[in-house]
Amino acid sequence: MSRFLSDRLQSLAPYVPGEQPKVSNLIKLNTNESPFSPAPGVTEAVKEAAGSLQLYNDLSASRLVGLLSDTYGLEKSQIAVGNGSDEMLAFAFQAFGGHGLIFPDITYGFYPVWANLYGLDAKIAPLDADFNVDLRDYRGNDRCIVLANPNAPTGKALTILEMAEIVENNPDQVVIVDEAYVDFGAESALAFVPQYENVLVVRTFSKSRQLAGARLGFAMGHEKLIDDLNRVRYSFHPYNVNTLTQAAGAAALEDPRYFEACRKSIIETREWTREQLLSLGFRVLPSSANFLFAAAPGVSGPEYQQRLRERNILIRHFDLPRIRDFNRITIGSREQMEALIQATKELLA
Ligand SMILES: *Cc1c(COP(=O)(O)O)cnc(C)c1O
Repeated sequence: MSRFLSDRLQSLAPYVPGEQPKVSNLIKLNTNESPFSPAPGVTEAVKEAAGSLQLYNDLSASRLVGLLSDTYGLEKSQIAVGNGSDEMLAFAFQAFGGHGLIFPDITYGFYPVWANLYGLDAKIAPLDADFNVDLRDYRGNDRCIVLANPNAPTGKALTILEMAEIVENNPDQVVIVDEAYVDFGAESALAFVPQYENVLVVRTFSKSRQLAGARLGFAMGHEKLIDDLNRVRYSFHPYNVNTLTQAAGAAALEDPRYFEACRKSIIETREWTREQLLSLGFRVLPSSANFLFAAAPGVSGPEYQQRLRERNILIRHFDLPRIRDFNRITIGSREQMEALIQATKELLA
């Protein structure tokens, strides 16, 4: 820290991303990336787009937004794209968190960081003993609500009826639903967008569309909410989604069969892995995401992580009070998960 850093930032605890090691022989199950390559059309599309990099990118990302509009059945004016969903969420926090925010104690670790960065008051609503959202926390509420659904790192999801209760009980608050993992089996709040003016659904190409490194996310909501996000964007960085990323995203959307095949494979492999871990005596939460949240029998959370690391397998541990026994294990390919199970059997033996 230099002596020049603004006072306000000195106490900030930045988000700590999962490790991105440079060595290549690791089985990387620690940051919820897809084990599959981008859709086959992506490389060619990016190559072609590179030919016009001397020009600024399309501010309205019209082709990409048009494809999102077709894919999700919304108007273009109900969609905004960003540099990863992290950027969309950061814009939403700034736009709608002015009178405070509320989110669970166990959830995406970036939420409290943004609240601090932007000087917003955050109320923490603890999940219950089984890591479920307590709907009562969101009744009579006067803050912007932020819910990851499915939640991270638990993988647990709210049903559409539970979401409806939260949305209908809070007509004067924006409900931000972070659906980074929704494609892996949860019910989406997207159906509320045409009906309610207070729902903002945020999604990403990082997890289910094989494009984490491209940095592409999007928000869907009432056109006035989207206008508000653009207000923040045009006050910060209007050219937020570069030409190559727009092309990559469009090519991914143009291949729904590849998307479906990857998604289906990950869901199947998740259920296989869950059965295996349960039969080894793990506690495994039910998951609607591309990861499992699991506690190993007879070894601590950090110890399980460390012993897998010695066998070149990375998983993610969060050193937080209620979840120290658990690790978050990304679902990779079937071969990778077989290696995880084999290593686990050895280290528990
Ligand atoms: C991965 C993740 C994001 C961020 O996704 P990017 O689009 O890569 O920025 C947002 N929310 C949750 C809950 C995530 O797990």
